[in-house]
Amino acid sequence: MTEIFTGSFTQQEPIPEEAVEAALAVLRHGRLHRYNVVPGEPGETALLEQEFAAQMGAKYCLAVSSGGYALATALRAVGVQSGDPVLTNAFTLAPVPGSIASVGAKPVFVGVTENLTIDLDDLEAKLNHARVLMLSHMRGHLCDMDRLMQMCDAAGVVVIEDCAHTMGAAWRGQLSGRQGAVGCYSCQTYKHVNSGEGGLLITDDEELAAKATMLSGSYMLFERHLAAPAPEAFEKIKYTTPNVSGRMDNLRAAILRPQLRELGRQVQRWNERYDKIEAGLRDTPGLTIVERPEEETYVGSSIQFLLLDWSPEHIAEVIRRCAARGVELKWFGGAEPTGFTSRYDSWRYADSEPLPSSDRILAGVMDMRVPLTFSLDDCRLIARIIRSEVGSVFQS
Ligand SMILES: *Cc1c(COP(=O)(O)O)cnc(C)c1O
Repeated sequence: MTEIFTGSFTQQEPIPEEAVEAALAVLRHGRLHRYNVVPGEPGETALLEQEFAAQMGAKYCLAVSSGGYALATALRAVGVQSGDPVLTNAFTLAPVPGSIASVGAKPVFVGVTENLTIDLDDLEAKLNHARVLMLSHMRGHLCDMDRLMQMCDAAGVVVIEDCAHTMGAAWRGQLSGRQGAVGCYSCQTYKHVNSGEGGLLITDDEELAAKATMLSGSYMLFERHLAAPAPEAFEKIKYTTPNVSGRMDNLRAAILRPQLRELGRQVQRWNERYDKIEAGLRDTPGLTIVERPEEETYVGSSIQFLLLDWSPEHIAEVIRRCAARGVELKWFGGAEPTGFTSRYDSWRYADSEPLPSSDRILAGVMDMRVPLTFSLDDCRLIARIIRSEVGSVFQS
């Protein structure tokens, strides 16, 4: 009997009832704009910032309209100017180089290793090309953060972390987003908390926090924030920092607060699913598991494996066969960008130098979402399907 999976790879869980109630309360009073509060009312957005800062152990937090907006705001706040080079991962998603391009700066791509993390040797060679690194923890894989921070600190390179896939992850116990100068998170539907769209930015740096707050469109209402620097920090920058509106609103904040309280539990549930799939794929001939370093606490909201040195035709055949059995694999090595996937050389607004060893890896990266609507049995079944189809094509 040929097993078929009938679940959906894009169906998230419903918004928790507590969040629905909180959202209804905001809708009923109608004060959706974050600065539209009555005396004594902090507002959902300010409370969200206060709670997320505490959860992450950060001094300051700013909630914004999207993860990509948080990245661009971080770049502006650290002083990136039009024409400046900014180092970033060759293996990432389009909003990352897009945020760099949005401030008129130029992405300089750094290669990827078989662990799907930034190639630290390639980074070392390029560190003197730029003063900022936009580090994308793509698909939740953390590089050796100790070595990376040592190298960047020594070279005076400011690190902005793109934690769109690492909210809740950690490196040697330190939460992802706490090593660099700024950590940026996405609250978009496919990430670890879901408000449709939304972003969070954290930092311990007073000046960066004040600038980011002004940039986000605080006008002169920054005193209403609960996780922003004291008013004096704004005195120095308030006349010289432009307003690039991208605020979070109270409706989204209301939806996010209960979800963030459940993050630890959700991470556990993701990892139970991830571990089932990984175990089911292990020792499949022709398939390389992406091993997770001991120092890393990951969030298995998606899983990757490699079909290294396979021909494009054979990979396409695996994808076709899995799809016929209900398993959706994404391929980062496809010649044309499709759906969410694309390669660094398809972002043609940015010049890129060839990265042959990265090209070899990207050509074989298979990627799959693991929504929490999957049961553990679903995960076992999905692994069996991939295993048998990879096996069949590998032998042929
Ligand atoms: C989703 C995502 C972003 C940006 O998030 P948005 O909220 O969609 O703007 C940034 N980086 C990566 C790697 C992402 O997957």
